[in-house]
Amino acid sequence: MWIGLDDTDSLLGGCTTYTFHQVLCELDCEILELRLVRLYPFAQRRTRGNAAVAAKIIPKEQTIDDLDRIWTEMIEPLKGKIAESEHDNRKQYPSEPGMVVYQNDPDPEYYWTAVRRQIDYLPTPVRAWGGWGMIGAAAACAWKGTNATYESIAWRKNMRAVDEKALIEVDHIDGTFLCRDPRLKQGLLAPRGPCPVMFGLRAFTVDIAESATKKLISAPGTAEIEGWRIFKTNQASGDHLAMIHKGKVEEILVKKGGHVIVQLEHDIVIAFGETGDVKLLAQSLVSGDCVEYVGLRASDGSIHLEGLRKTHSYHQERPLCSCGKRMKSMGKNQGSRCPSCRTIIKKDYESKLEYDPEAKWTMPPLNARRHLSKLDLNQNSHDL
Ligand SMILES: [Zn+2]
Repeated sequence: MWIGLDDTDSLLGGCTTYTFHQVLCELDCEILELRLVRLYPFAQRRTRGNAAVAAKIIPKEQTIDDLDRIWTEMIEPLKGKIAESEHDNRKQYPSEPGMVVYQNDPDPEYYWTAVRRQIDYLPTPVRAWGGWGMIGAAAACAWKGTNATYESIAWRKNMRAVDEKALIEVDHIDGTFLCRDPRLKQGLLAPRGPCPVMFGLRAFTVDIAESATKKLISAPGTAEIEGWRIFKTNQASGDHLAMIHKGKVEEILVKKGGHVIVQLEHDIVIAFGETGDVKLLAQSLVSGDCVEYVGLRASDGSIHLEGLRKTHSYHQERPLCSCGKRMKSMGKNQGSRCPSCRTIIKKDYESKLEYDPEAKWTMPPLNARRHLSKLDLNQNSHDL
């Protein structure tokens, strides 16, 4: 049986993972799989990280009754919590928790829709409680679980503190990722603000997540925790991006504040200031260059870049003479002349499109990426 839960957090400091941890402690069933699933980053009513949680459990006779009671006692009171944030200009919706139960795996197509688009329906559950959150909750149950990574989440008892030395050690373990930003010399696994999460440690396997978590929580500089669980996740899967787009550059507009609008022949893409190397590459493009790009299409129709690669560079140069010498200009719009055999032609320039088979994907810096983003588009980008 699957239980899914979503939308119990708010900027006031709730966290769906923590609520779910409490639900599972209360239920006391055998857990076959526990998951944290990130959904469509542009969803209108999304919570901050737009994550839903689900668990596959072996139910007991009274499990549904227990869930009824848990819903009323623990989850329903979280409804309607909202707070204004100084850091987030986006309109905040009051939380509208939802919980669903499925006897069998829901159709994975439902997940694919919910990770890539706005969605407002639900595959019929065995039981459902609450409001809007039911959609994310159902999508978490419907995820096929392929292309997974793991995140071990520890919740704090009181203060939040993670041992700095142990953090550097786990960051160096082969198989953990995004623990620390080497560029900023800063941990990436502890959130800020009132959220109950102490840290979330990302890894490619359960075993690595487990051993690294034990190292972190036993380190002297790490504060006391309430509990921890390992979630299977779709983070770093790239599942939100359906395809690699291709386009030819027409015009570049560098805006105040640093973001770059690239007008392509058949599309408009935007590299925001915080996308670092992506923005720099976008700035350097010239009319005629060809690019490949990935990103999500915003409501205004433009694509917000999450990866960019210049496959063809456009050049103009003086024509080559049939004798093999490079020709020289005879003045603006006057044509070209060969310095060797004196042949004259009308053209000033020849344009050339140079293909770069080695062209690398550029991606935003680690701290500016989506949870769903692939770690390196240069590996397996054909999976998209
Ligand atoms: Zn010549």
